[in-house]
Amino acid sequence: MIYLDHNATTPVLPEVRDAMLEILSYPSNPSSIHAFGRNAKASMEKARQNVAWMFGIDLRRDGYSLVFTGSGTESNNLVMSSIGSSLRTIVSAVEHPSILRHKDYNDNIDILDVDKNGIARLDLLEEWLKDNRGGLVSIMMANNETGVIQPIKEIARLVHQYDGLLHSDCVQAAGKIDVDLIDLDVDFISISGHKFGGSAGVGALIYKEKYSLMPLIIGGGQERGVRAGTENLAAIVGIGVASRYYHRKITPDGIALRDLFESRITEVCKDVVIFGSEVVRLHNTSMISMPDVPANQQLIAFDMEGIAVSSGSACSSGKVKASHVLKAMGAEDKLADCAIRVSLGIGNTKAEVDRLAEVWIKIWKKQ
Ligand code: PLP
Repeated sequence: MIYLDHNATTPVLPEVRDAMLEILSYPSNPSSIHAFGRNAKASMEKARQNVAWMFGIDLRRDGYSLVFTGSGTESNNLVMSSIGSSLRTIVSAVEHPSILRHKDYNDNIDILDVDKNGIARLDLLEEWLKDNRGGLVSIMMANNETGVIQPIKEIARLVHQYDGLLHSDCVQAAGKIDVDLIDLDVDFISISGHKFGGSAGVGALIYKEKYSLMPLIIGGGQERGVRAGTENLAAIVGIGVASRYYHRKITPDGIALRDLFESRITEVCKDVVIFGSEVVRLHNTSMISMPDVPANQQLIAFDMEGIAVSSGSACSSGKVKASHVLKAMGAEDKLADCAIRVSLGIGNTKAEVDRLAEVWIKIWKKQ
């Protein structure tokens, strides 16, 4: 199989697997007082600092805290439920459901439109901020479907100009692009271990320590009372190791490979549409529409050829719904319904991308 679905989840790095197996050989509850517990606590704190370093943060002196959670979804929920419950909030129309679906439960949430390239409309954001000084804004760093990267530094400046707070979902950006939290001046970011070589079951929220968070999960005093429950130490150690290795292993070849794929396709099929191609995107992501071939038909055909890709459509209760991201970008249904996402990662080769292009063209010609 050729795995080209790294935005869904990445393979666990060998260094991460080794570190996790080592931790799993001992009883490890970081709250225990005995030597096993103290060792566990030391491993957890080392992981915390390593993850923070990935975003340029020294937890001892930069004024940020990091709380480990169970997933990117939980980190997003923590901000939306804790900070968002008391503030008027606006979120971009292309956010992950773990942000967007809060609108179903909270009338205080507005949706910020994006332009045809998927970039948040800063003119509309400024209007909103004028009416809602001090509100919460949530705009992701990079989109999971298209890879489109938002101008977060500019957004942070604008939000702070109106005394607002900015949360950015960095689940897809982490490990793929440099995220310097101090330079960007974002107040809260969410990340997820399994998107950059760690395991599933761990995420984190990094935030300016002057803000206090109300816990979603109440119980013991773990994570300084912000997230109760005995920590998933193996996964936490794993994300710590992943944060040291992943970005070093992602090579600039990734850019060349994605572009190679896109140029092969566009040479042969002039009607192909690549979403977000006019703006800066993650170098590993291509959301591409094959004229007149529904995405689910493509996915089956790719799978039969041994290639794992995914569609831009969310599947719920057996029905395939058009991607909310492409809809928000104003894509016509017939284009959105035929879009698949290719997301490259560590270990993908030129030969694999050649094969992907060859199979793409074969499926398109066969229709
Ligand atoms: N945010 C974005 C942008 C994502 O792509 C995902 C997962 O696909 C999440 C949040 C949720 O992360 P997790 O799978 O860790 O819950």
